[in-house]
Formats: sequence, C-alpha cells, structure tokens
Amino acid sequence: MDFTLCLTHACNLRCDYCYAGAKSNTRMAWDVARKAIDFAFHHTLRRASLRGIPPEAQIGYFGGEPLLEWPLLTRSAEYALESAARDGITLKKTVTTNMTLLDEEKMTWFRAHDFYLGLSLDGNAAMHDTLRRFPDGTGSHAAASKALRFFRGSQPAGEIILVVDPRNVAHLTKSVEWLLSEDIRNIALNPNFYIEWPESALRTWQTASERIGDLYIDTYRASQPVRINVIDGKIRTRIKDGYASCDKCGFGENEIAIAASGNIYPCERIVGDDTNEALRLGNIFTGFDSAKRSQIVACRGNVIEECRDCPVKDRCMNWCSCINYATTGAINRVDGLVCHHERMVIGVADRVGATLFAESNPAFLARFYGA
Ligand code: SF4
Ligand code: SF4
Repeated sequence: MDFTLCLTHACNLRCDYCYAGAKSNTRMAWDVARKAIDFAFHHTLRRASLRGIPPEAQIGYFGGEPLLEWPLLTRSAEYALESAARDGITLKKTVTTNMTLLDEEKMTWFRAHDFYLGLSLDGNAAMHDTLRRFPDGTGSHAAASKALRFFRGSQPAGEIILVVDPRNVAHLTKSVEWLLSEDIRNIALNPNFYIEWPESALRTWQTASERIGDLYIDTYRASQPVRINVIDGKIRTRIKDGYASCDKCGFGENEIAIAASGNIYPCERIVGDDTNEALRLGNIFTGFDSAKRSQIVACRGNVIEECRDCPVKDRCMNWCSCINYATTGAINRVDGLVCHHERMVIGVADRVGATLFAESNPAFLARFYGA
C-alpha cells in the first residue's frame, strides 16, 4: 500500500497553483508520525495476509514543504526502516520537494536511504518564476535549480515535475529543451487541470506537446533516451491495449494520505487544509471509517455516458478520482479539459511510438518491448 505523510502545512514558497491549502505552522507531531507508520504497516500486513501476497509498502513525505521538517522526516524514515525490517515489509521511500532546501548533506542522506525524489521545478527560469515564487514575490528558480546538479545523467533517483498551466505554457518547449541540455533524463509534465484554459493557451499547449514529442524522438536517436511521463504512459497503453487495473491509482483503497493531524484522506491532493469531511476516511488513532471508505472506493471510475463509445477510453485517465473531484466535484465524472489532454498526449505518443518502432530504435525496443 502507498501512504503519504503530510508533515507540515508550512512552505517557504507561495506557488499560484498550490493545492496544498493555506500555509500555516501546523506540523505533524512525532507521536502522530510514529503512529502513522505503525498504522501503515499494520494495514500493509493485513492486506498481504488476506491476499496471500508479499507485504510491500511505500511511504511518501509531502507537505507543504517536507524538508522544513528535516529532523521529523529523518526520524520517521529511520523508524519506518526499522519497523519494515522487523515485519518483513519491502519498503519504498519517496519525498516531494520544491528543491530550495536540498543541499549536499540532505542528498547524501537521501541516497544512503534509497529515496526516490519528486522535484518540483517548472523548467527554465521564465516558466518557473511565473508561478513558483517566494512570499515576497521573487522567483524561486535560482534557489531550486541549484539542486539540479544532483540529478544529471541516465540513472535518475528522481524526476523533475513541471506543472503546466495556461500562464506558463508559452515557455514549455524551451523549458524541456533546457532540462535536456542540463542532462535531466526523467521529466514529469503535470497539467494544472484546476484552472480555465483559454483557447489560445490550449493551442500553445498542443504545439508545445508536438515539439516535445520531436525532442523525445531525438533523444532516442542519440541513444540518450529521456523519460517523459505523459508520452511513456501512453506508449505503454498502446502496447498493452489500455491501463491495467494495477496501473490505476488506489484512491482510498491502497493509497492513503495522512494529514499532520492524523486524519486520513484517499490522496494527498485531497488533504488541503484538512477540512474535507466528505472525503475524510478516519483518523490513524481511531481507525478507518469503514462504511465511508467502502462507499468512496466503490464509487471510483467514470460514469460519463459519452466515454462509453470513445475509441481511446481504455487509454484515458478518466478514472483519476482526485482530478475528477477537483474539476467536476464528483470523483467519478471526468472533465472536458482532462478529455482534451488525454486525446492530445495519446496522439503525440502514438506518433512518437510509431516513428521509433518503424526505425527499430534499439533504446526504444529495449525499453518498451524488452528486446
Ligand atoms: S512548493 Fe508545493 S506546497 Fe509549497 S506553495 Fe509550492 S506547490 Fe504549494
Ligand atoms: S478521451 Fe474523452 S471521451 Fe474518451 S474516454 Fe477519455 S474523457 Fe472520455
């Protein structure tokens, strides 16, 4: 199971598109963090036992900015490691950070503890500083991009996450070019679905996406393949005829987020100010509200009638509950912007995949066909 611990509601940035709620000094106390890990492993063992599968868990650290709580993060990670070793649980560790506090000492610790890092950096300075700023309004690109040096090369221990928004999309192509020039090989393009996209911005996004597809092809031709989440994911869905059930997020079922208070939510994107009673699944000290959890889990999916006959319905992320909830108010109703995005990236990915397949590109065949 995947568990995300939201260590703090504080952050040293004030990004315009932040969905993590109002900033405050509310932080997770040590007894909450320890109980959260005990809770996570209890449910991991229970699930493994019921299903007859090996126990595997992922603990992710999130915020606000989790590196503001460095002593708590390291203490709870060490505790999780000891507990997992005792209980025979295979443990993955992740952290999502804005990079501004990431220095040599912290990187050494993350490497030693085999962490995977989600690194929020909106590409080049022009794109990043449009929306990712300090409270005084100054851009944070210079502070964040200093840590890029830790992630150059072909063996990424993390991915650079760009949030694509109508206000910064004009810089998207140049940003991906810049990241490639910096030898960054693992890029995630996460759209901001929670905002209106004017037609002109949608056109810019389409043009940028096609150009990024070209750049992707170029990296394979140069035997320096890049990973870009939206292209990789849709190439895979083409090869295997859609998402497998295990590819879909486990919203509330095998994916859980724990707020600083100990309240439980089905996804870190829902935690926000920790006030969403409709989707609160309980508290780690009192346990799951089982009836509500079952109801939410059963409700997942997509009930939009028009999707039934869509030729790409099995390759579409219309099932993403947190995005559906944020965009339509219902976890099982997909929004038109998601539809637009999915069709766009499927088109780009199919062109990229067909081109590299026709060329029998060795890196492409090795990566996607194990050839
Ligand atoms: S760094 Fe993350 S938590 Fe902080 S303001 Fe930006 S998006 Fe929100
Ligand atoms: S691409 Fe659009 S119509 Fe097709 S399944 Fe996805 S959301 Fe529905």
